[in-house]
Formats: sequence, C-alpha cells, structure tokens
Amino acid sequence: MAVLLSLFAAVVTGAVPHAGDDLGVAVGGMGAEDGMPAWQERNVVQLPGGHRRETTVWLRFSLPPVATDESRWVLRLPRDPVDGIELRRDGWRSTRYGFYTPQRVEGLLPGGYVFPLPLAWQGETQLVMQVDSSLRGAFTPKLMRESDAMRIEQYGAATAAMVYASLFTLALLALALFSAARDRMFLVFFGFSLLALVTLAGVNGHLYQLPGLRLFAAWGAMGLCALAFLFGAGWLQVLVRYVGLQATHPSARRAIDGYCLVLVGGAALCLLNVELLVPWTQPFASAALAVVGVLGVLMLVDAGLRRVPMAWPLAVLSLATGIGALLMELSARGQVPELLLVRYGYQLGLVVSIAILAVGLIGRISEYRYQRDREQLARADTERRMEREASRSNLAAELQTELRALPVGDVEWTAFRLLLDHLSRLMPLESASAVVRGYHGQDLLLVEPLEAKQPIQQSIEKRLLALKRQCANGLPLQQPVTAEGVRASLGIEALLPLPIRAPAWGGLLLRRKGGDGFTTEELSLAGELARLTLLQIDQAVAAIQLRRSAEVDALTGSFNRRTIDQWMTRAFDDAQRDGQPVSVLFIDLDHFKSVNDRYGHACGDFCLRNVASTLRAALPEGDLFGRYGGEEFIAVLPGRGGAAARVIGEQLRVAVENMQLDWSGQALPLTVSVGVATRRDNEDTPAATLDRADKALYAAKRNGRNCVQVAPAVFS
Ligand code: GH3
Ligand code: MG
Ligand code: MG
Repeated sequence: MAVLLSLFAAVVTGAVPHAGDDLGVAVGGMGAEDGMPAWQERNVVQLPGGHRRETTVWLRFSLPPVATDESRWVLRLPRDPVDGIELRRDGWRSTRYGFYTPQRVEGLLPGGYVFPLPLAWQGETQLVMQVDSSLRGAFTPKLMRESDAMRIEQYGAATAAMVYASLFTLALLALALFSAARDRMFLVFFGFSLLALVTLAGVNGHLYQLPGLRLFAAWGAMGLCALAFLFGAGWLQVLVRYVGLQATHPSARRAIDGYCLVLVGGAALCLLNVELLVPWTQPFASAALAVVGVLGVLMLVDAGLRRVPMAWPLAVLSLATGIGALLMELSARGQVPELLLVRYGYQLGLVVSIAILAVGLIGRISEYRYQRDREQLARADTERRMEREASRSNLAAELQTELRALPVGDVEWTAFRLLLDHLSRLMPLESASAVVRGYHGQDLLLVEPLEAKQPIQQSIEKRLLALKRQCANGLPLQQPVTAEGVRASLGIEALLPLPIRAPAWGGLLLRRKGGDGFTTEELSLAGELARLTLLQIDQAVAAIQLRRSAEVDALTGSFNRRTIDQWMTRAFDDAQRDGQPVSVLFIDLDHFKSVNDRYGHACGDFCLRNVASTLRAALPEGDLFGRYGGEEFIAVLPGRGGAAARVIGEQLRVAVENMQLDWSGQALPLTVSVGVATRRDNEDTPAATLDRADKALYAAKRNGRNCVQVAPAVFS
C-alpha cells in the first residue's frame, strides 16, 4: 500500500508543468449582435449541455516567438466528455477531437486534447473554438509548450495505467480469495473491482480505445451516466456486505438494497438513450452519487464504532475521495488550479479504498479459517464422543448377551476376552492383556492376539509383585517396553489398574509399537470400558447366583421342588405331543427319623447330601432329579416306560444300599424305597401320575422298605 501511494505521489508531483511557460488564454463569448467577442474575466469555457449541445467561444492569447530549439505552442484542454471539439481561424481548421472517438495521434491513454498551433502564428491571436457536448461542464484552456503538454500526457498516462493495473490486480486477488475461501463476498468484490476499472476507464475516455468496447461509445454521455449509476450501486453492495449491515441493521440493509435498485433502474434508463431524458440524467447521476457517498461514509462510521476492521481508514478515504471529486469539478470551473493530483486524486482515493477493502477482506479470511478450524475441532470432538459412546454401548450389549447364558466359572474370562477384543479394534495396539489374581477366586491371563501370550506371560510372571504394587496404586501409567540385551525401547506399555476389591487385583496391559505413547483420551476410554466390563461381570455373576438360589435346593445342591415341577410339566407336554412314555420315581429314605433322633440333625443333613449326590450319579444323563422336600427325592425319566423305569428305580435303590457312610466312626446303613409310575394316556398333567407314584411308594414301604414298587393303572 505504501509503495502504491509513493508511486502515485512521485508521478503526480513530477507532472506539474513549469508555471512560467503557462500562458493565459482569454475566453470570450460570441457577441450578441455585432459578432464581436464579449471577453470574460475567469477564462472558463462553460458547456451548458442538454439539448443546447453546441458551444462556440472566442479564445485570445499572445504567442511569443518560437526559437529553433524550442518546441511549438499548443493549446491543451482537459479530456472532458465532449462529443466533438475543434479550433478555427480564418482558413485554418484544427483536428476535430472527440471523447468517444479517440484519434490515432492521441496515444494510448490520452489525458487531454492537445491542439498544436502553426509555427507561423505570433503575437496576438484569436481563435474560435467549437465544442459539441450533451453533458454540462466547464474547462479552462491552457497555452503551453508542446514538450510540456507531452510530459503532462505521459504522466497522466502512467497514472491512469497504474490505476487500471491496481484495479485489475485487486480483481484477480478477489478471484483468488474466492477460490480459497469460497466466500461469496469475494465474488461481489471481484465484480466491483472490475466495475470500478470499467467506470474509471470510461470517465477517463480510455474505454473507447479498446476494440471490443468501442461499441459502448454509441451511448455517449448516457453510457457514462449508466456506469456512474452502476458503480454507485456496486460500491454500496460491497460496503453493505463488508460492514455486515444485514446482521446489525436489517431495515437499513433493505433500504439500501432498494436504493441500489433505483440506481440500477437509472442505469437501465440511461442505456435506453431517450433523447428527452438527456438533460436530466447528468444532475440526477451527480445527486445519486453524492447520496451514495454519504451513505457509504455513514455505514463506515457506524462500522468503525462497531470495531469492524479497516472501517475508519475506509471512512476517511471515501470522504477524501468525495472531496477529490468535488475539487476536480471546481478545477474545471477554474476555481482550483488544474493539477494532475486534482485530475486523478479521486481515482487514486478510489483505488486505495478498494485496496484497503481487500486488506480488510484478507484479514477476514484468517478469521474465517479460525472459525472453520474451531468448527472442525468441535465436530471431531463430537465424533470422538459419539464413537466412544458407541463403543461403550456395543461392548455393554455384547457383554450382556454373551454373559447371560454362561455357567459361573466362564463369565470372567469371556468378559475380559470381549473387552480386549474391543480395545484392539478401537486403538492401534500390538497386544492387549488382562491380568487378574483372585478375582471371584480366579487367576486369569488373557492376551490378544494369542501369539503374544507366551512372551507376555513370561514377562508378567517376572514382575508380578511390581505389577501388583502398580495396580494397587490405582493410577494408569506408561513405560517403555524393554527386552534383555536390547537397549532400544521396543514400544510403549500402558498399565491400567482394574478397580477390583482387595486382596484380588488386576490390570490391563496395552502395548504399542514405536515411540508413540497412549493419549489421555485413549487411556480414559480403556479405563471406562474396563470399568464397564467389571460391572457387567458382577451383574452376570449375581444373576447366576440368584438364578441358582431360585432353582436349587440349598442343602443338597440338587434342583428344588419348584424347578422339578416346571420341568415335569414340560416333560409331560413333550411326551403327550410326541406320543412318548414318561415315568416318575418317588424316592423316600427309610426310617430316616431314627437317624435324626440318634445322631442329630447335622448327621441327617450329611446323609441327605450324600444320598442326593449318589442318586444323581446313578441316574442316566438326561433324566431329571431333584429334592422334593424333607427326605423325599424325585426323578423324572422322559422316554421311559414302566419296565425301564423299574430297572432304573432298582439301580437307585442298590446305589443307596451300597453307600458306605459313617458318622463319627459309626456306619450309617441307609436304604430307600422307590415308587414308580408311568404316565397314562388320560393323564395330561403330572399331578395324577405323581399321585400314583406316591401311592406306589407307600406300597413299597408297606412291603418292608428298601424295594421298588411300580404303580398299577388303578390302585384298588
Ligand atoms: P419311613 O421309612 O416311613 O419313611 O420312616 P421315616 O422315619 O423316614 O418317616 P417320616 O417320613 O415320617 O420322617 C421324615 C423325617 O425326615 C422327619 C425328619 O426328622 C426328617 N427330615 C425331614 N427333612 C429333614 C432335613 O432337612 N434334615 C434332617 N436332618 N432331617 C429331615
Ligand atoms: Mg422316610
Ligand atoms: Mg418321608
């Protein structure tokens, strides 16, 4: 920005022509009647514009003689948007210049109309100047050396080129920023930079030199007005977005959008090129641009108060640009000296404003990126949390289904295996192990993958005491994995103590190759899953115990009456459905009361436990057995008819008879009586069959005990 400014300053100050060579030109209007000039005091050519397009004035000046080494005299006029301009003197006619029809002799970026005067002219000279313009305006003709005029032209061209180049660069920058940030604001900015470039090229008259844009000249002054309207609308739209008016003053935003529509409408009207409207468009455009300027400054001041970056410099600059435009207007009227600075000052202001806007927008990119990074982080965090939650609930669900059906000793290792499985899937691990000692009376070592088990087992056995101490500490820790004879670390091992009640202890050992340790996140996830696993183990074990206490008789460990009843009902249903026999055996200890009476209840319980296990062992697999109450047991034999049941009853009786029990050295000869009943076709439920088995048992008792009695179809 500083380089840009100093370049402008250098060009502009270098272009001030030598005051001494600048000779006054008197301007005179056409005399009313006698055709004699009416000389003015201020020497300004006024162009009324509108329908009175043609203006003819007298110019009078005194030409000093030209030495051979001096360049000739020229009359120079600023390049105002006139349709045609020419000088006449009896017999002599200058080139006719036009703003919209640049001449080849004028160079690439002309800044004025330069009329070389014939060398022969000397002394007092009078000329007629005829100007054809539909725009209102004023300018001051200057008489100077051709060399000075050329220098002014060159500096003007350089300044204009710099203005265009800057705007073009800013437009490209906006496009690059758009492709980087995908913010539509940059696209608007790109469009505005191009619009500013076209507008300034139009105002300077350079637009009409470009082959493709020469067509635009057809609109003449109306085309310039249209550009001015569009430029005003563009400036407001850029500012509205830059200061974020939508968020702070939505109604003002709507009003400005409405005003922009009016401006665009004005531009469209200009392009219609209606002859009738021509005198009105110029004052209307000037007023509209003045309003645009005021609105812009107001917006920027408001934004400055809200600490929008670059709003204050922009406010000052747009104010300065407005003043610059005013100064140019005044200099045309001869009230302010016509300097290059004045001519191009407002253009410079505009370029710098746009550059500052670009700087502000670039600043916005970092803000935008910061916000995007934050959003990405938040999203990653949410994803991580969701992943964590998902792995938690997955593990919980798997544990619940897997542990439900397990016998008591299998719960722990199954649960730990699932845990290790999950951990290996959740984080990069070389191996994962679970070591537990004395947990529910078990010592376990599980390693995933299995190939790693042997070396890990050896390493754990070597440092069992240290591990126990570290686990008791309760805090996770990480340490390098070392091996004998190898100096370098083989990886990192994390130890996560398991919250198990002492004296039991345990921990998870997670190993990872390379030097990357475990993140706190990973350790806390592993810890969480381990706690979840322990909880599920406890729940599963408790459920098993509860189930067992409901199903099993506490004294003998065989099924209780409730369970037997349930199973019997099911066995009877199956038998009826499949047309298979089912038999029931009632077994009662003989003279058991006397055992109790003689040796006490403890001895009685001892006998009951032994008889139960002997009976269970004597029964084939698949038959059901339980304690029905007191010293009575029951066996249900699905698929067996009366004869087979009698054989089994006999086996049971013999098994008890052959038992060798003694109590404090006293032999305890025990016998049982067995009643057998087989389901009859009319017996849907176990009750009737059971009743007949009971009666058969009593028959066995009556028959002298220690025998098997099969129930008849009907007891007589
Ligand atoms: P019988 O040969 O006629 O069956 O003679 P019995 O003595 O076995 O007669 P009864 O069936 O009337 O006696 C049952 C006895 O079993 C009564 C009770 O002392 C004993 N008994 C029942 N349940 C238990 C128990 O849980 N523990 C002990 N120790 N004894 C029990
Ligand atoms: Mg008995
Ligand atoms: Mg009994």
